[in-house]
Amino acid sequence: MIPLRRHYLVLWVIALPLVLATVDAHSEIQRHFLYQVAIPNATIDVDKMKQAGVAPSSPPPYTSSVFVVCDEDAFNRLSQLGMKILSKSGSVPFRWLRPNELAGSVAQNTPAPLLSPCQGYHDRTATESLLKNWARHYPDRCSLYKIGQSYWGAPILAMRISDNPQLDEDEPAVVFGGNIHSSELFTVEILLDLVEKLITGYHTDPEITRWVDSTEIWAIPIINPDGNDCVYSMDYRWRKNAHPYSASRPLHIGDGVDLNRNFPVGRSTNERTRDNPVSAYYYGPSGGSEPETQTMMALSERERPVMSITYHNSGGWVIVPYSSRIMIQPKPNWGRQFGEMMGVHMLVEESTLTFRVDTEMYPVAGVDQDYYYNAFGTLAYIVEASRHGPHPNLERWREPILRSIRPSWRFCLERTIQSPKVWGHVRDYATGGPIEAEVSIKGHLLRMDERWTSHPVTGRFDRLLPEPQTLTIVARAKGYMTAEETVEVGTGPVQLEFQLQRIEPPPAD
Ligand SMILES: [Zn+2]
Repeated sequence: MIPLRRHYLVLWVIALPLVLATVDAHSEIQRHFLYQVAIPNATIDVDKMKQAGVAPSSPPPYTSSVFVVCDEDAFNRLSQLGMKILSKSGSVPFRWLRPNELAGSVAQNTPAPLLSPCQGYHDRTATESLLKNWARHYPDRCSLYKIGQSYWGAPILAMRISDNPQLDEDEPAVVFGGNIHSSELFTVEILLDLVEKLITGYHTDPEITRWVDSTEIWAIPIINPDGNDCVYSMDYRWRKNAHPYSASRPLHIGDGVDLNRNFPVGRSTNERTRDNPVSAYYYGPSGGSEPETQTMMALSERERPVMSITYHNSGGWVIVPYSSRIMIQPKPNWGRQFGEMMGVHMLVEESTLTFRVDTEMYPVAGVDQDYYYNAFGTLAYIVEASRHGPHPNLERWREPILRSIRPSWRFCLERTIQSPKVWGHVRDYATGGPIEAEVSIKGHLLRMDERWTSHPVTGRFDRLLPEPQTLTIVARAKGYMTAEETVEVGTGPVQLEFQLQRIEPPPAD
């Protein structure tokens, strides 16, 4: 029997953290740290962690320790349950959640939450909650879509920002994505900043208003939601998706496919593209094998984006297509020219250096930008943000890094609508219906079987030019006479409407 005094002590020890936790829930912010917890007896220890309210969210089995992200009260509860804490990260990564960003806590009539004062990383729950709130508050300019789901069934969410965001309109699309490598947490913040700037600037900032009115902007803050969960629950370095190495055993640290090696273009192995499943750069069982990759492929197939950027965190680079060495560049290489123009506007944080522009930091293959460029002619970029690691201290670096990055998406949106370009439609002369026709530029050499077409649903095409020039555009579709037009393009857009005539079938004998 436990002596009375001891009994009191136990009650007191358990009760105090609960009181603190209650107080904490009502305070303005919750600050979360990264802890590594030893679990020598995984089953028992994970049960203990559940008691403390910080159970890892990913399934067992675990290695001898797990990483969890929790606040100091939860940490105290773990310690009191006898758990051994191996390490604590002071600020990397941490969540600092404003309670009104948590799911379900926002009443219909409260003002839209603003991102700016937030000083912590948004995990998947906080990101989803913020996006849902914005979509509810600004239905005239943004709409939230589930465009697919992860290996474990988590929704992959995309915010479409446009006038009439619930409708498919005849406007050029631009796609921005983050967190394809889940450990690169800062990219989520880049995407949320982008969405916030666009939706709050609409109708107040003339430049943003023009972009939102004239384009279809797609923002996918977390392309890899399972990986994002693993960062907070299993290993803060988790980079790949959470596809287990073997279907016959649960997820382990080190499992998964590197989604930015899994796209089905230029598939090959090299220094940082491996066929070994335990490699951090594992390219997957086949090109496009992963549901997250397929989701992005389907979105680009549907939207045919004119430009795109996927954000990563390796410090001060604009990577231009084609980034795989086995892909032969088009001639002239406008993909590179646009990347160089973008890089000029981008200064590394707190520096006068501009971003470096190149096809690679190291050899890669199967990356998203090569797929978008090859399949649709998308001017597709990878922007490597932050010289301070994948999850820099946000209190110190959030604003400087965002300042260095904003010119990249502003450049894409501005160039998509206001630059030297040829745009228009390809239609059937007799019916006026849209035609998916190959739209090419005479004298331009495409050497990887590229076939860049007008949009199958609208017949629309947009070809951005790096500078004013005279060129001949050719529209070609099976069963139709090929048409070509020579146009002189100055500093702004030139519209060109093709009406293709059907080739009469030869008379039957
Ligand atoms: Zn990356």
